[in-house]
Amino acid sequence: MGNDKPAVLVTGGAGYIGSHTCKALVAAGFVPVTIDNLSRGHRDFVKWGPLEQADIGDGAALDRVMAQHRPVAILHFAALTYVGESVTEPALYYRNNVAGSLSLLEAARRHGVGNVVFSSTCATYGPPERSPIAEDTPQHPIHPYGASKLMIERMLADFAAAYGLRWAALRYFNACGADPDAEIGEAHDPETHLIPLVLMAAAGDRPHIDILGDDYPTSDGTCIRDYIHVTDLADAHVRALRYLLADGAPRAFNLGTGTGHTVREVIAAVERVTGRPVPVRLSPPRPGDSPSLVADPSLAASVLGFRPRFGLEDSIRTAWAWYLKQGARM
Ligand code: UDP
Repeated sequence: MGNDKPAVLVTGGAGYIGSHTCKALVAAGFVPVTIDNLSRGHRDFVKWGPLEQADIGDGAALDRVMAQHRPVAILHFAALTYVGESVTEPALYYRNNVAGSLSLLEAARRHGVGNVVFSSTCATYGPPERSPIAEDTPQHPIHPYGASKLMIERMLADFAAAYGLRWAALRYFNACGADPDAEIGEAHDPETHLIPLVLMAAAGDRPHIDILGDDYPTSDGTCIRDYIHVTDLADAHVRALRYLLADGAPRAFNLGTGTGHTVREVIAAVERVTGRPVPVRLSPPRPGDSPSLVADPSLAASVLGFRPRFGLEDSIRTAWAWYLKQGARM
């Protein structure tokens, strides 16, 4: 690897979206330097650059890593991301996500690292008044996870105004799918996300999938979400990075496809892709679930040139290949 390639610090590079982005960064000519405390990430997902095992709250460790690698930018994924856990353990979320990000931004300032691409979320909007959701929708998160991400967006804006930080906040809708080469994929413990759970039911590794409410005001009564492939998200991060390096103005972008699917549509697509029946069980709605969350993706398209290439079935196909590979390894 030549020394002339610019280094990018990737916090949470051992996680789901961070690791896929490291692969995309290498393809784009960058050296991804992962910093991850491995509390939820996976050591074997770090395949495309060095791993520095440290917590973003550890200023001395950040000083050492930044002085050694001299990154041109930070891609900041490291966070705790379970909505339910954030409600029962808010202190954990504010310490790890908010205080951790402050520590990171202060270190960036000390080392003159002036560009940050931040992993934000559509959960910062809270229950939306209208759909599809554009970036100027008022942000009223309803749980500590969403609130923690919104606080970090605010911190970025304030650092920009006072210190000239350049930032892009990428508000993801529902990340899904796996690397098309099945080198990495989704591996949460516990798993709470719809597509991996439906795949487990298709594989017979769970008895059924719980449909969490079927009385919503949607076409079939189940919730609508905007599922975006993780490799598309990775591509959007590289685009946002280039945008900042080209002096793009700080702003937030929604990352979604603009198309929503109901829970029942996801289950039917899994049955088509896997060729297996998926047993379902009707269960009560999950508190706080919005009937429909769909992105207006036009800003990322016009400013970043970002257009998702993978559809729902592609996401399920790549996730299924990854799932089968994991089973084969066990
Ligand atoms: N969902 C479901 N059964 C499950 C898990 C999720 O019906 O076992 C539904 C959930 O109510 C939501 C959608 O699937 O409408 C996506 O949920 P997920 O947790 O994957 O993402 P979220 O949209 O909550 O971030």
